[in-house]
Amino acid sequence: MDRAQLSEELRRIVGPRSVVDNPDALMTYDSDGCVMDLHDPHIVVLPSATEQVAAVVKLAARAGVPVVPRGAGTGLSGGATPMHGGIVITTSRMNKILEFDARNERVRVQPGVINFELSQYLNQYGYQFAADPSSQKACTIGGNIANNSGGPHCIKYGVTGSHVLGLQVVLADGSVIWTGDGTPDAPGYDLTGMLVGSEGTLALVTEAWLKATRLAESTRVVMALFDDIAGTAATVSAVIAGGFLPAALEVMDRLAIKAVNDAYKMGLPESAGAALIIEVDGVDDGLDELLAEIVEICHRHGAIEVRPARTAAEQTQVWAARKNAFGAMGRLAPTYYLVDTVVPRTRLPYMMEQVQLISQTFNLPIANVFHAGDGNLHPIVLFDRRDPDQLHRAHEAVTQVMKLSIEQGGVISGEHGIGMEKQDYMPLLFNDDDLGAMAAVHESFDPTDLINPGKIFPRKQPGHNLAMQRRAKVNLGDEEENEFDKATRVIKAQGDNVWI
Ligand SMILES: Cc1cc2nc3c(=O)[nH]c(=O)nc-3n(C[C@H](O)[C@H](O)[C@H](O)COP(=O)(O)OP(=O)(O)OC[C@H]3O[C@@H](n4cnc5c(N)ncnc54)[C@H](O)[C@@H]3O)c2cc1C
Repeated sequence: MDRAQLSEELRRIVGPRSVVDNPDALMTYDSDGCVMDLHDPHIVVLPSATEQVAAVVKLAARAGVPVVPRGAGTGLSGGATPMHGGIVITTSRMNKILEFDARNERVRVQPGVINFELSQYLNQYGYQFAADPSSQKACTIGGNIANNSGGPHCIKYGVTGSHVLGLQVVLADGSVIWTGDGTPDAPGYDLTGMLVGSEGTLALVTEAWLKATRLAESTRVVMALFDDIAGTAATVSAVIAGGFLPAALEVMDRLAIKAVNDAYKMGLPESAGAALIIEVDGVDDGLDELLAEIVEICHRHGAIEVRPARTAAEQTQVWAARKNAFGAMGRLAPTYYLVDTVVPRTRLPYMMEQVQLISQTFNLPIANVFHAGDGNLHPIVLFDRRDPDQLHRAHEAVTQVMKLSIEQGGVISGEHGIGMEKQDYMPLLFNDDDLGAMAAVHESFDPTDLINPGKIFPRKQPGHNLAMQRRAKVNLGDEEENEFDKATRVIKAQGDNVWI
């Protein structure tokens, strides 16, 4: 099937106004927020219903063309980048909140609903969608599910996966299934858990049952200013070690403070080395006392000033500054490369010192804005991608941070996913057996590598190679297999009930 025929068939399925095939317009879809590697799709479709998604996937399977699911394209690991071209399926028109079941505290949505808009809708009933990525004013629930996204408040409320009850998905053969009916703990394999965080490589989410979380009665927010970032990170560990569970513990360093000041007129002292945003929430009674104890820990760890956000408007301003901090980086450099690693929380002060050394070694400024309470660091390497030398140094600096995070007992992604950006670093963390087990799961969902191909697994070891190696290895172990068969025969011979 040639491109013109494909376009025609797709127009028939989703309607003529829901197909993009103009080369200029296609460039809009050549990456997500990670602009290190760009690939144009062949064609983009904007379906509005599950049946249309299923029909597009069936057509793609027939034509042997890959499909790439896409939400708002705010991902930072190249997850929605059409690495091998193909049909990008954008969910921006699948943006309906379908049902709010208040008595069971759950809500059913299409995947293109914007995270912030869902929370705003739920707020009027005293609820929220508790996973709140800083990109929440743009990113979609489908993207959040695919990346198992976190956010400032996930230290207390948990990441997206903690709030998903069941998913309707289109599989690689175009069939549609529900992984659960919206009640907790569906029987059988936990397919919901399997699909959350699978980065759009196993199936396309077309509807979701999500938990609605009650809004806290009261909230307090303060910003503590420190001389240096390592001391701030140590304070975070001390707060948790003190037995407190704030709703958020977020850090911004000197460079980030500068960017945010310039962009949002926050009036923060640029002499401060770092700012720690602390939010506590819960029953109003006793909340001030709880916050006072945490503030006392900040003072003991050298806070030079603690600024309370006294009104709702001030709280909103603090959060706007934090959540828009990445955007403010545009004031410091034309491009940034954001690292997303995790270390055990107590290793954060050491990591912050090392990140400063890496910045000096590669002669590139690095800002830090991160979910400190989760040990999730986000060094932001600032550079100009038009300069090949800077581009090379940015890559090297990021590699160093990843290697260091692993050495410190951490992992290479906290919330942004692996996508294309980190696929070649996977062997730093997993051996071939580990990767082979993941590839076997991938193969069982998507045997022809139709959905978002070329992601997650290292470029040199694509998923189907790893799965084949694994099968060859299992088949070679014939003797062991026979022993296993013998053992099962014996057990079965004892009677059917033995399996109960
Ligand atoms: C300024 C900024 C701040 C950010 N802050 C955070 C943060 O605090 N926490 C955090 O976790 N992330 C953060 N991110 C990263 C990003 O916003 C999240 O990963 C978000 O969940 C992506 O949503 P999206 O709709 O933009 O998805 P996209 O970028 O379009 O896609 C992301 C992945 O999801 C897949 N996908 C999308 N829709 C579907 C679907 N319906 N079915 C199956 N797969 C699908 C895509 O194939 C891709 O692999 C930030 C990004 C930016 C630019």
